[in-house]
Amino acid sequence: MTTLFADAKEEEEQAKYVILGVPYDGTTSFRPGTRYGPRAIREYSCNFESYMPHHHVDLISVPFFDRGDLEPECSPERVVAQVEQEIEGIIQRMKVPILLGGEHSITIGAVRAARPDVYIVCDAHLDLREEYRGSLCNHACTTARVLEDGVEDAIVIGARSGTEEQYRRAHEMTIFDADDVATRGIGTILEEIMGMVEGRKIYLSIDADVVDCCLTPGVGTPEPFGITPRDLRAIVRTLGPLSSAFDYVEVCPVDAGQTAAVAAEMIREFIAAHWVRACAEPPGRRVSSDTDKQR
Ligand code: MN
Ligand code: MN
Repeated sequence: MTTLFADAKEEEEQAKYVILGVPYDGTTSFRPGTRYGPRAIREYSCNFESYMPHHHVDLISVPFFDRGDLEPECSPERVVAQVEQEIEGIIQRMKVPILLGGEHSITIGAVRAARPDVYIVCDAHLDLREEYRGSLCNHACTTARVLEDGVEDAIVIGARSGTEEQYRRAHEMTIFDADDVATRGIGTILEEIMGMVEGRKIYLSIDADVVDCCLTPGVGTPEPFGITPRDLRAIVRTLGPLSSAFDYVEVCPVDAGQTAAVAAEMIREFIAAHWVRACAEPPGRRVSSDTDKQR
């Protein structure tokens, strides 16, 4: 039996948040194993207290549900379509989807379902390859596909790797690279981002390799000189409550559990921060819950 995410005790119909695992790593180029990511994240979620002192909230009182794992097909194009369909169903029922990867390609389907104005991604990589190893839905093409799908803006935080060709396309996005975060501080950068995204519909995607691989080495494509887990927590706390959908991908649990532990905490942070904000604001003002907006 698969362990479900800790404290996900609500019935699906009553839940405000729905967790879905996508154990897919079919286009992995370096280290395989992100298919075991959802399992590891759920396992480590059981290590933490349900009370979140920063948010003054106990997760037991937050209505969230874990519907387990999607059974992915083999081809990345098919998996992207599967994810799109699943996430569309969750959003139609006025719930906030939380996706556990799996590799980053699954985000393409989720963004197609969520139709955000702004795509915010934390990633060591630009993921701007036009195609890779014969597929348009390779994990190295995620941001390229999202841009084509018509988001108004894409913002990348923590980037530090890409081909020369990808960096030539970088003007299509706003990049706060890992060195910017180190020198300017995440607080300053988040203030700038908040000014850019105000009132718009946001999708937040976290590729676990955004964090320095010397701190969390359990990822498919490790890169040093990244941001810290504390930077990432600031991002999730600030931008999470404004997001209509969230994913955490590329956890490859080959380490001592650091990467899955950080991932599980970030998902808990997302749920707690989003819930506190949702409770504080009247529904009419919740841009992030707007599901019937057309592109
Ligand atoms: Mn990525
Ligand atoms: Mn990456």
